[in-house]
Amino acid sequence: MERCEVQALIDRLAERHTDWTVFEALARHIVRDEHALRAVLDAITSHPNPKVRRLCADLMDHHGDDRCVETLRQALHDPVPRVRRQAVHSLSCQRCKTCALTVGVVPVLTDVALTDENMWVRREAVCALAFQPRDARAAAALRVLLARETDPKITSEVHGALRIHDEEYRRASNAAARVRQQRIDRM
Ligand SMILES: [Zn+2]
Repeated sequence: MERCEVQALIDRLAERHTDWTVFEALARHIVRDEHALRAVLDAITSHPNPKVRRLCADLMDHHGDDRCVETLRQALHDPVPRVRRQAVHSLSCQRCKTCALTVGVVPVLTDVALTDENMWVRREAVCALAFQPRDARAAAALRVLLARETDPKITSEVHGALRIHDEEYRRASNAAARVRQQRIDRM
């Protein structure tokens, strides 16, 4: 496919009502055409329209491989939170991909969870941590978040992720749940 045709498809992602056939057409191109993949990766970091940047990052959720990692890392610094949130998801979600990424993402996710100014982006990073194998670095960051975060939309996710990454926390929360249940049983 001509490079300008791919670019035209990318630009159409800016339309107010998303034409998902355009999205699917791009998905088909990037799996078989390196130039199309490069154009989509470029759009993630440099397209002027944030919706285009977000949807191009979304394409990497199902169709990304290790070639998209550096671009998605850059997108974590996008000025628009929805783009950063999508970048977190595409970088960390292995279950949607046909080709799992081989890079470790725990340090990136803990960094986002601890430093992003937007609660929904931090929450996405915490949810992603819950799908990573047990890791002491994740446990340490989640302990900091548990002490710091106040919004229940994120604290419940932090609690769930800590139960996976921190055996001591899991035991303590199980014991606390048993005590609560015993109190209820006595009522
Ligand atoms: Zn996914």
